[in-house]
Amino acid sequence: MFNQHFLDLPPLLSAFGSVTLPGSKSISNRVLLLAALSEGQTWVHDLLDSDDTQVMLDALEQLGCHLKKEQHSVCITGLGGSLQNLSEMTLFLGNAGTAMRPLCAALSLLGANVTMTGVQRMYERPIKDLVEALQQIGASIEYLQDPGFPPLKIQHAKINICAPIEVRGDVSSQFLTALLLALPLVSQDSEIQIKVVGELISKPYVEITLNLLAQFGVHIKRDGWRSFTIPQGSKYISPGQIHVESDASSASYFIAAGALSMGTETLKILGLGEGSIQGDIRFVEAARLMGANITMGANHLEIQANQRQLQGIDLDCNHIPDAAMTLVMMALFAQGETVLRNIGSWRVKETDRISAMVKECQKIGAEVQEGADWIRIKPIAQANWKSASIKTYDDHRMAMCFSLAAFNPDGKTIRIEDPRCVGKTFPDYFETLFDLVQTLGDVVPVICIDGPTASGKGTLASEVAKSLGFHYLDSGALYRLSAFVATEQGIDLDVSNEEQIVELVSKLSLRFEGASIYVNDREISQAIRTEVVGMNASKVSAMPRLRTALVDLQRSFKRLPGLVADGRDMASVIFPNSPLKIYLTADAMTRAKRRHKQLISMGISANIDILYADLKARDDRDMSRSVAPLKPATDALMLDNSDLSIEQSIEWVLNQWRSKNAA
Ligand code: C5P
Repeated sequence: MFNQHFLDLPPLLSAFGSVTLPGSKSISNRVLLLAALSEGQTWVHDLLDSDDTQVMLDALEQLGCHLKKEQHSVCITGLGGSLQNLSEMTLFLGNAGTAMRPLCAALSLLGANVTMTGVQRMYERPIKDLVEALQQIGASIEYLQDPGFPPLKIQHAKINICAPIEVRGDVSSQFLTALLLALPLVSQDSEIQIKVVGELISKPYVEITLNLLAQFGVHIKRDGWRSFTIPQGSKYISPGQIHVESDASSASYFIAAGALSMGTETLKILGLGEGSIQGDIRFVEAARLMGANITMGANHLEIQANQRQLQGIDLDCNHIPDAAMTLVMMALFAQGETVLRNIGSWRVKETDRISAMVKECQKIGAEVQEGADWIRIKPIAQANWKSASIKTYDDHRMAMCFSLAAFNPDGKTIRIEDPRCVGKTFPDYFETLFDLVQTLGDVVPVICIDGPTASGKGTLASEVAKSLGFHYLDSGALYRLSAFVATEQGIDLDVSNEEQIVELVSKLSLRFEGASIYVNDREISQAIRTEVVGMNASKVSAMPRLRTALVDLQRSFKRLPGLVADGRDMASVIFPNSPLKIYLTADAMTRAKRRHKQLISMGISANIDILYADLKARDDRDMSRSVAPLKPATDALMLDNSDLSIEQSIEWVLNQWRSKNAA
């Protein structure tokens, strides 16, 4: 994730390929609790990895569940409906409502002695309706600060079920969900009836709860949305394995991206389909009403590019409050205006989403009107799109929605402010999007940092890349690995063997994962860092045909949101149109000393005089070779870092980049 306060999205043309999205948060935390209450082991696959699921896992472990983690799966050994550990404890639940509410219900029925805490924002989120429902049957729950809000203290108490339990349904459906998930624990002697007071909101989320309970062997009877009955003797039975579906609300951005694409390609979303139990899957129906061409399989969706064929709609969106924001973005591209109704709940989400949408849409050139619970959007004519800096109001959905404005047909750049706010539900949102999109024209920025051996360009380039969230190309590594494998094969690195070396290198299967480099699935990142390999790299790098053979590979690193490339000929040959070219130098003795320090710190013995001589030899060869000799590009900025710290050099480059962008 970038350190930047904003992210510039260049104009996008299309998004295609296939993508698996992170697991649904609502499903993840419900499943974790059900697995914990069941007996025996449950493997939960494709679990969402986020702050909210982490606090749930930590709490379950504290309560005595055994957890085993493997990549995207976790195996939970459940408590079997009773707590072994009745000693006093404190559970920290961050800002996860999906952990606080159901755990409050379950723990007060299990006779736990726990204090439930969280972050300050958690102490502003109501829980009174749930606590009062539980107090009706004898639970002992105390507010430790403000009445009606966490933190809470739960103490062992006798539970006595007689009359139906009443719970309000018009503030948050999570209170009903918490009761439904926990009450089977105390259903041994009689059935338990829950009556909903007031109109139940967010019914699709209660449906997820009922569906998951059924998968764990608890079949709730319901009378419309007013009354729910838990049969006597209900028992959680682990299904053994359970897969968490991809998040349907997150999918809405990719469905829209596929539909907003130009061309004829398709975008495939895996892990979500017809069988989905999430309410927001009905975004598919709404998008189809707008003309999106979506094929739904049992566990995938496929979206056909058709930006030019979208039409405006008039729709009640109460059933898809979160995903409906994405329809606003599609409406900007449609023929005819769109009205979305019954979206009053937008006003009390992470921000007032109706007003935020109106303001930001106007910045990019749209005519938008709002009412108390509706929004009307007129499409933007091709010539009326404007570049804009989009405020995101600490709302992940604002950031994800407005990334779609980058598909505008007029080639306008969209700046997303505070892009890290997507972390609430989808930390890698932009990276995932960038892997799928094609840009309108050659707009991916490249910063080139060339310079002689040991000038510090590797550290400088990778740090600049990290801070901008850009990809990083260490082109020297390609010459190093070429020399390394050739030597391993016993090939003399003489120019007469050039053809053989080119042939060998072009057949290699190469993989770059962060700082790790794999050749035919073998990690060689460290092995190519020695002085000997560096010297050999300098020999093979003088071979013209090898250089040509490596050009496409180097250019393939140029991907959104940008690239920092270091080497000798980045600016002159590989990326000649790069907007920022830097030539980094330091005097030879300073470089020799730096290299000496580096080697010693790695536990490799070294001699400054020998290093100095080697370094001069490499400089001479790199500068005098006939192809791509090392020299500054005519339009490069010179940076002599002999007397600069690495931090100062980084700041210098970032400042150059900022001043270019400001322009
Ligand atoms: O930068 P590094 O020391 O890893 O590079 C190893 C050798 O590869 C250099 O001495 C140079 O001869 C060669 N090289 C090159 N062109 C590049 C990068 C490295 O010729 N773009």
